[in-house]
Amino acid sequence: MFARSTILRLAGGAALAAITLGAGTLTNVRPAAADAFSNCVAGKWSAARSAGVSRATFDAATRNLRPDKTTLKFANKQAEFVKPIWEYLDTAVSDKRVSTGRQMLRKHGSTLKQIGARYQVDPEVVLAIWGMETSYGSYMGDHNAVQAAATLACMGGRRNTFWTKQFAAALKIAQDGHVPLNKMNSSWGAAMGHTQFIPTSWQAYAADFDGDGKRDIWRSIPDAFASTANYLKKAGWNYQQTWGYEVAIPSNFDHSKADGKKKRSLREWSSLGIKRTNGRPWPRPSDQAYLYYPAGAKGPAFLMLKNFDVIKRYNNADAYALGVGHLADRIVGGGDFSQSWPRNERPLSRAEVREMQSILTRRGFPTGGIDGSVGPNTRKAIRNYQKKAGAIPDGFASNQFLSDLRRQ
Ligand code: CA
Repeated sequence: MFARSTILRLAGGAALAAITLGAGTLTNVRPAAADAFSNCVAGKWSAARSAGVSRATFDAATRNLRPDKTTLKFANKQAEFVKPIWEYLDTAVSDKRVSTGRQMLRKHGSTLKQIGARYQVDPEVVLAIWGMETSYGSYMGDHNAVQAAATLACMGGRRNTFWTKQFAAALKIAQDGHVPLNKMNSSWGAAMGHTQFIPTSWQAYAADFDGDGKRDIWRSIPDAFASTANYLKKAGWNYQQTWGYEVAIPSNFDHSKADGKKKRSLREWSSLGIKRTNGRPWPRPSDQAYLYYPAGAKGPAFLMLKNFDVIKRYNNADAYALGVGHLADRIVGGGDFSQSWPRNERPLSRAEVREMQSILTRRGFPTGGIDGSVGPNTRKAIRNYQKKAGAIPDGFASNQFLSDLRRQ
């Protein structure tokens, strides 16, 4: 299991913070709460000791430790509206980020080449992750990993065992001299350094590439690159086999075949009429891939290879992985997607999904419950409804679909 928790990254990572617009809840830390915090932190000693932290390190680090109010604010944030994937990608793969990526490739090209060869991971993907995580090191977060993890372990309300582990691991990293504790910059969710590793992921995957004996992902770019490459390699990266292909779907396509991320060989997809948008043949027709169209049949469609899921091990969100893959391609000279996004549409909020599910169910297209989330049963109901209404049965829940549904 990957210690860099995908749940954490979804709850707190830069990627989700960027794709959701949240309603923040301010949390005030009163004096009584601060005492409770100190007591709680003191109670983490046995966990720290088990992680190899000395009493001296623990005492020095916790003596004046206070909760991180901003971390609490982010932890309490509720995602209310989902930003459309094209808006997310506009920022994630902006022209500026592509051009900075190209500059960085020139600047760090020889290091990246060595790292790519050593770990058998495509260097432009490492570069793209760096670009996505911290805008190439320009923003590593202004929190401290020890403080952020302690705050979440004692006041986060959920998953305190997980955060206690992160807290103890962060103390151990500082104790071992890889970076001074006060330089342990992180996001509010304790994702650290240039490529945003949480402490237990750092322990499992961080690498010392520049050979100074420290795995310093905060101050050594080669260490940060090698750590990311190592992570991808251990997650099963297939070297020089890309993450996926943009494809065109024929108009008579059976869209139920795109459901559930069912894998087929590229050869099999071809026999169903699917082609690359650039007209080129598949380099390896026997590769297994699943069809994914993030915005329904009216937007770009992709056949995703194993590397797409490997990127998701870094951050378990399709939008993030598509951003990384696309940014990597753009950096090495690839163009924008051939198909355009349906920018007049937007994904539904949970309340809207519930409304859509009620209407569909009432009209004899059961969605398997009214739960506000779009799963296989809901997509099937949408497809059946679309078929009956003479629309493209792609099962995509857009605001357009809901407003048609309300009118009909
Ligand atoms: Ca080093």
